[in-house]
Amino acid sequence: MAATSVLSPLGFALLRRLSDGKLHSGEALAAATGVTRARVSQILSASEAAGFTLERVRGVGYRLVDPVPFLDRDAIVAALRATAPRLKIEVADSVDSTSTELLRRAARQAVDRQVLVAEWQTAGRGRRGRKWTAVAGGSLTFSLGWRFEQGAGFLAGLSLAVGVALGRALDAAGFKDIQLKWPNDLVHRHCKIGGILIEISGDALGPALAIIGVGLNVRLPSTARRDIAQPVTDLAAIDKERALDRNRLLAFILAELYELLERYAREGFAPFVAEWQRRHALQKKPVRVLLPDGSVAAGDVVGVDASGALVLDQRGRRVRLVSGEVSLRRG
Ligand code: ATP
Repeated sequence: MAATSVLSPLGFALLRRLSDGKLHSGEALAAATGVTRARVSQILSASEAAGFTLERVRGVGYRLVDPVPFLDRDAIVAALRATAPRLKIEVADSVDSTSTELLRRAARQAVDRQVLVAEWQTAGRGRRGRKWTAVAGGSLTFSLGWRFEQGAGFLAGLSLAVGVALGRALDAAGFKDIQLKWPNDLVHRHCKIGGILIEISGDALGPALAIIGVGLNVRLPSTARRDIAQPVTDLAAIDKERALDRNRLLAFILAELYELLERYAREGFAPFVAEWQRRHALQKKPVRVLLPDGSVAAGDVVGVDASGALVLDQRGRRVRLVSGEVSLRRG
């Protein structure tokens, strides 16, 4: 899908109507959205440029060939049950980045326990200004604000702990064999399937606000994969049917995250170390470490410590790596 093409709110309104996979006449679509039939045709052409495939049946109407159920707040809240009232959940059609948007809002209002999920991110971010690729209908991208009484030092292991919550949620949702890769990736058979981005602001000794951003590939088309310089995969490759229900999947994730973050706020990362190591794709494996100056170091993964640092064995010498600086690859 072309990341540069822009879908308007009207485009999303039309696609939501077509997401049932049935035929809709141009006339009915025009009446429902208050525009002319010519405009409907024009907007739907733009959605084709954004990667949706439409069937146009002469004299009858339009049908979405590979319909995706859209993100829907009511469906998320219903699936979340008891946890839902403790979170503020908002679904947006399109934002630059859900984390960027929550950061902007944090400057003027409380975003603690606020969830922002977007159908489409046009400028998703990774660490250190890297790009996160997402497509309308085929990604799950959201951010959650969480206020901690403690400061940044206490939150050093937060991105690893969030990985544990995601692993638990994906297990519960029926996706097997998804593992973590230090510090902030989710992988399936060593192909990247998701990422976590934590941004912290506040006083060094606390309180601090964490904006927790998550991106998961649900159905990532090959055109989008071309932008990504490492092996990637998506949930549809593991289980197509389950992958379709992003609302239910998000509910699983939010429930696990909520419980985990409450515990993290009391006890930090230490209680999650053993489980994190069990879920680590490179635990006890030889690895290469890509350092910021472009050089590469090698070693064997020993594990992680209670602050979330990676411990490597380099020919008998123990080395501690903190996240934010390096990328890890299989040795
Ligand atoms: P790495 O994943 O290379 O170890 P990183 O953890 O610093 O590095 P992140 O900040 O998590 O990377 O994410 C940005 C990187 O992830 C991009 O540079 C790109 O290689 C990759 N990427 C971007 N979009 C996706 C996506 N949808 N799925 C998988 N990988 C992606």
